[in-house]
Amino acid sequence: MILIIDFGSQTAHLIGRRIRDFGIEVKLVEPEVAFEAIEQHKPRGIILSGGPVSVYAPGSVTVDPRIFTFKIPILGICYGMQLTGYLLKGEVNLGKVREYGPALLHVEGSSPLFSDLSGKPFQVWMNHGDKVTKTPLGFEVIGSTTDVAIAAMQNIKKQIFCIMFHPEVEHTEYGSLLLRNFVHSICGLPIKKRMLTVSKIVAQLKSEIGDARCLCAVSGGVDSSVAAALVAKAVGKQLVPVYIESGLMRPGTREQVIELFRKQFRIEPVIINAEKEFLKILKNVTDPETKRKKIGALYIELFQQEAKKQKGLEVLVQGTIFSDVIESKGSKHADKIKSHHNVGGLPERLGFRLVEPLRHFYKDEVRKIGKLLNLPRHIIHKQVFPGPGFAIRIVGEVTQERLSRIKQADNIVLAEMEKSGWLKKVYMSFAIMTNTVSTAVKGDGRFYGEVVALRIIQSTDVMTTTWARLPYAVLQKISSRIVNEVMGVSRVVYDITTKPPATMEWE
Ligand code: GLN
Repeated sequence: MILIIDFGSQTAHLIGRRIRDFGIEVKLVEPEVAFEAIEQHKPRGIILSGGPVSVYAPGSVTVDPRIFTFKIPILGICYGMQLTGYLLKGEVNLGKVREYGPALLHVEGSSPLFSDLSGKPFQVWMNHGDKVTKTPLGFEVIGSTTDVAIAAMQNIKKQIFCIMFHPEVEHTEYGSLLLRNFVHSICGLPIKKRMLTVSKIVAQLKSEIGDARCLCAVSGGVDSSVAAALVAKAVGKQLVPVYIESGLMRPGTREQVIELFRKQFRIEPVIINAEKEFLKILKNVTDPETKRKKIGALYIELFQQEAKKQKGLEVLVQGTIFSDVIESKGSKHADKIKSHHNVGGLPERLGFRLVEPLRHFYKDEVRKIGKLLNLPRHIIHKQVFPGPGFAIRIVGEVTQERLSRIKQADNIVLAEMEKSGWLKKVYMSFAIMTNTVSTAVKGDGRFYGEVVALRIIQSTDVMTTTWARLPYAVLQKISSRIVNEVMGVSRVVYDITTKPPATMEWE
């Protein structure tokens, strides 16, 4: 097995997923217990994850340096590399230029980590401010980028390998090959292909739910639909799907939910109309975290009211997936990036037993499970839409007027993406009301109005993204239609920021 020491990286769990995909057992542990865990589990390899803090900051998370004496191969990733450099008496400093997003890695010298990769520079995904400025004794540099001279280093004798970039994310070219080189060539573990099966998840759900009836929060999106389908398979008619019409979802969502549950499960979903309530709680709210928390709390309140009307609704099923969990501070040393309404936005007194069958899965895995469950294609491949809906795409206060404007703009984006054949090639495409105003000249008259931003991005698992290289003609069409058709808009801009550093949504 491979032991991962989790220093609070957003992608420590993702490293685990990649290794499991090779059919290899993984254990994630906190740094405080790492030494004991190594003695106990005798792993064949150790991976040190990234993390949000700086090694030289007072009280920053560290690990017992004796882990470097076990003669077990070690791979340090980002913070893991910085910590190795620091603990083994190299130097780590804040770089003048930080790297967030793509960089080009030049492989130097020879290393089993880069076997089959030397010679040609390739794209890696970075996410750091600090860097190793002097290698510890016995280490040699094996890779660099334009801004970072020591982007990879090794001590071949001690089998310690360190990289500043993240091989676990989909946007690092050859990332999988690199991890494979580590676990297979360096640690000597055999590779098998992991198969996703639903039977285990269903069996687990059966025992977790028992005889209770389950209120299943459904939004029409892929996660909650797959979660509901799993619950239906496990406990059949105990499933009660509930859709809340918040007025914040894409128009037509309610109808899609009703059709899905009638056709696929022969169950009539409960529809709760609460458009007015949502607008009311969002009045005067401009802080994104407050928005998310208020929306999360109202969802739960409405579910609790429903549970009072129906007997035995003890369990609340949510379609939470791992990216929601980790961004809401899903591990001990992780930072909170934002409070997802279904995780960090949950009130303290829930009043339900929470069941989340997809909590440890990523979006692309959820889609695969959906396929195994024979859910319709249009649900499995439906474009992702956030639970708090348009509220977190309207920077500043959510008003009836701005809500109707964003719906119009969103509609234009979707229609033009569809028409040009680009809709199925991207992960998400949407408009943002930026709350910034700019001057325009419309029909020879001065016009001062809001700037709309477009975010059109590519990803498979939400952990990293890049913006879509749309043809100019498509961008022009979307821009012209929005400024011409949506009242109050002065300008359209295209968001060309990768994740990291930018998150998918603006709020
Ligand atoms: N917090 C550290 C930095 O910014 C490490 C980042 C990481 O591990 N991704 O340099």
